[in-house]
Amino acid sequence: MPFVALGWLADVLLAPGGADPGGLVGIVWLVVAGLGLRGLLSGVALGITHFADVRLQADLRLRMVQRLGRVPLGWFSANSSGLVRKAAQNDVGDLHHLVAHHSVEMTAAVVLPLGGLGYLFWLDWRLGLLAVGTLPFYAAAYAWMMRGYQEKMEQMNSGFARISAAVVEFVSGIAVVKAFGRARRAHEAYRRAADEFAVFYGDWVRPMLSVEAVSTMALSAPVVGVISLGGGIWFVSQGWVTPAEAMTEVLIAMVVPTTVLALGFGAQSRRTAAAAALRIHDLLHTPVLPVAAEPRVPDGHAAEFDAVRFSYDGTTDVLRDVSLRLEPGTVTALVGPSGSGKSTLATLLPRFHDVTGGAVRIGGVDVRDIAPERLYRTVGFVLQDVALVHGSVADNIRLGRPGAGDDDVTAAARAARIHDRITELPRGYDSVVGEDAAFSGGEAQRVAIARALLADTPLLVLDEATAFADPESEAAIQDALSELASGRTLLVIAHRLHSIAGADRIVVLDGGAVAESGRHADLLEADGLYARMWRAHEATATEPTGGAA
Ligand code: ADP
Repeated sequence: MPFVALGWLADVLLAPGGADPGGLVGIVWLVVAGLGLRGLLSGVALGITHFADVRLQADLRLRMVQRLGRVPLGWFSANSSGLVRKAAQNDVGDLHHLVAHHSVEMTAAVVLPLGGLGYLFWLDWRLGLLAVGTLPFYAAAYAWMMRGYQEKMEQMNSGFARISAAVVEFVSGIAVVKAFGRARRAHEAYRRAADEFAVFYGDWVRPMLSVEAVSTMALSAPVVGVISLGGGIWFVSQGWVTPAEAMTEVLIAMVVPTTVLALGFGAQSRRTAAAAALRIHDLLHTPVLPVAAEPRVPDGHAAEFDAVRFSYDGTTDVLRDVSLRLEPGTVTALVGPSGSGKSTLATLLPRFHDVTGGAVRIGGVDVRDIAPERLYRTVGFVLQDVALVHGSVADNIRLGRPGAGDDDVTAAARAARIHDRITELPRGYDSVVGEDAAFSGGEAQRVAIARALLADTPLLVLDEATAFADPESEAAIQDALSELASGRTLLVIAHRLHSIAGADRIVVLDGGAVAESGRHADLLEADGLYARMWRAHEATATEPTGGAA
């Protein structure tokens, strides 16, 4: 409306009989009203899309949380937490431009020039052509630059991948590289990848630069202005259009290039958003653990593995036909070589994964038929990679039983042999993990044990940590563990044989199957895998003190 009105304004001002003041005021009002209406409408439109975006983001995050609450616990590896963080934070944010801005800005970017061009063609077709006169140059240059784009992009991505691989190799091996004086050679691999990439990129982009400079000029305001003015003056001299019409053409021709640039920018942000949407979609479609339509209540707390078969990938069985019964109040230790399936078997009890064959039962009921909330009130777990959440130490312990009072939290921490350490922190139980509470691995595990004590589940899966070298911490953990064991059914993934020698039952896994089971003394007598492991263990356990032999 303002462009058209400006043309009329020129008409009125240049009218042979002198300008008509009434007409002038009317046209000025029209310009003002047009601009005001545009501001109002685009404000309303952006308001609508921003509210929609806020609701979409909230809804997506909520759905992610709901979905993730139902995926198998085994899904949450270090890898997945990066994925979740990216999806919940960056990807949902990446949708913002698409939802809140794209349609409004694209509409404005397309309607304004198209409306103007339509008006020009209506005035005189030659004016319309003049306004888009430089576009074909740009389009041709763009098409030339984009030839083989897909293929070049693939080459570029693989070049990037080679560089990242070289960087990762260099950084992750830096200690070894330095220790063995191979810094130059490792560095070479990175330099070669980087040089190859530079050559490829230079060869691709160099010829484009001059073309791009020229083609961008075809859209620049000075060039468009000069061509429009020159053409307009010529049209007027030929008597095809009035000066006012020529001026309108100049104004409209200047806004046309913004469409082209806005379309390019819009396409880019749409691609980013589409990739983000795809990742969010995948996350929202992560397979969930099926929940029984009519959950059953376990009768007692005896746990049983019945001919359990399990495979992570559907082809190789990690567990083969494992049968095992955990009597209430007993300690069962799982031992075996690394990779024999101890962790996998133990975590099937709290349903980190569902079995591929056979069944895991608690109180005679298949864990798949137990309502999840009840299952997690029945089976607790303390695993190796203890996760402390960002929050106070007290809150971290209270995760075990959210309603627990301060006295209960303190009692649990005392029993887990971590109370004294917590009171040494600047703000005691109110110290925040990651801010003023920093725990060593052994201490973090004792916090996790306090949490498990507070949760007070009758069944407990425990991964006895390997990595804590200091004897004091180890002794404290052992004390805390014995506290946990009293009155509970315990399934322990054992790494150090001496700590489980007193277990009610030791189950030796080998290659995903039960090789032996029994008490320590019986297994030693049987002189099988366990006896061999024990002898090896004894040998290493006595070594540091100078060798008992
Ligand atoms: P252990 O605890 O005795 O060391 P695990 O139960 O961790 O043994 O592993 C048993 C086998 O399953 C190993 O071969 C291991 O590579 C494989 N495995 C463990 N976790 C996964 C997983 N998340 N995805 C695929 N394979 C896995």
